[in-house]
Amino acid sequence: SYRKGGYHAVRIGDSFSGGRYIAQRKLGWGEFSTVWLAYDTRSSEFVALKIQKSAPQFAQAALHEIEVLSAIADGDPSNSKYVVRLIDHFKHTGPNGQHSCMVLEFLGDSLLRLVKYNRYKGLELDKVREICKCILIGLDYLHRELGIIHTDLKLENVLLLSTINATQDPIRSGTPPILERPEGIPNGGATMNIIEKKLKQRARRAAARISGRRASMGGVGGGAKTNRSLDGIDLKCKVVDFGSACWADKQFAQEIQTRQYRSPEVILQSGYSFSADMWSFACIAFELATGEMMFTPKGGQGFSEDEDHLAMMMELLGKIPRKIANGGARSKDYFDRYGDLKRIRRLKYGSIEKLLIDKFRFSETDALEFAKFLCPLLDFEPENRPTAQQCSQHPWLNITSQNQTEVTSESGMEKVNVGMRNLQMKAGK
Ligand code: ATP
Ligand code: MG
Ligand code: MG
Repeated sequence: SYRKGGYHAVRIGDSFSGGRYIAQRKLGWGEFSTVWLAYDTRSSEFVALKIQKSAPQFAQAALHEIEVLSAIADGDPSNSKYVVRLIDHFKHTGPNGQHSCMVLEFLGDSLLRLVKYNRYKGLELDKVREICKCILIGLDYLHRELGIIHTDLKLENVLLLSTINATQDPIRSGTPPILERPEGIPNGGATMNIIEKKLKQRARRAAARISGRRASMGGVGGGAKTNRSLDGIDLKCKVVDFGSACWADKQFAQEIQTRQYRSPEVILQSGYSFSADMWSFACIAFELATGEMMFTPKGGQGFSEDEDHLAMMMELLGKIPRKIANGGARSKDYFDRYGDLKRIRRLKYGSIEKLLIDKFRFSETDALEFAKFLCPLLDFEPENRPTAQQCSQHPWLNITSQNQTEVTSESGMEKVNVGMRNLQMKAGK
């Protein structure tokens, strides 16, 4: 991909936009771009520099993304809406062509990294609530104030405000910025590895220092099998990746959303709107709380991935009303005129609540309350789903762990009783 029309090869210390930005290290990449941590010499801040591939279709896509990001930044001057901020954009010419570049505020790890870090165990519900509140503020802003549908909400596209690992975080680790290309290393592709190796060594040494410090403070160190603490990680987050976002009144793609987060109206092609984002949001909330995706459809013998997906939705959420099942441009491919799937006949019906209790070992109260939050968002009728604003008023978001202590107060009583018994035993001695 590092050829004409493709990615721009970046070396640490490279400068951009007339020397304003200096590349520090690679943060990530996608189909369209590589993203670099860069130092902004004008503001003396670290930023994320997204360098698009250069071919015309990528330049076109960048233009669109910049248009959306600009509208987002213009509508939120105080940067308080939990959506990534565009700081600057420019073009950079390199050996592979002219690349559109976006300068974004520097954010931390994605929610996917967070769930992995937590060993796919599902986060405490208080943490899930905290994350949900941020996403809902972001969505309400996009939907109600800007008329923008994100269309690709998933764990990878929500980033924490800071990194999980303090050594990766230039601000928390206090690492000074690299201001010029490291000396003694000639230009050339292979040399990048030497610098990267050196930087990795430096990061490893710093990591050892920091985990040593944490262990001595009684925190969780780098132990392989210990539970990982999320204490001290600010779980505020922002919605990112507006490459496929659209204005509700200017839609261009029929097939939107990443498979597992795709809403039924998109599969059936019956038209979508803001409520498609709300479906994906529910999938995110479920995944955060359980550590597993809500739907992971796979095609099989005699049925497609789409059909498997629709079957899974019905098994978890109940039968799709006939009017909806038969109301899309693709309905005839999947459903007979009675609203039954043509090729998957026997469904095993369950419910979110039951799944949370049986598989994920939720308490009955937690399962009931969480299901009451999720189910309206997963209404097959898109119009019936709550808006982001309505959803942000849902009582589940304001349950505090204090309420939960009441639920577990029985075990609290046990502790008191054990204490009493000990006292009596001592007294009896
Ligand atoms: P996609 O194929 O997902 O559309 P893309 O080329 O549009 O990819 P992004 O998804 O925007 O690129 O970014 C790629 C990766 O770079 C992200 O997954 C993330 O790890 C990292 N990244 C993007 N933006 C930021 C940011 N503002 N701060 C920190 N890291 C970021
Ligand atoms: Mg992405
Ligand atoms: Mg993208």
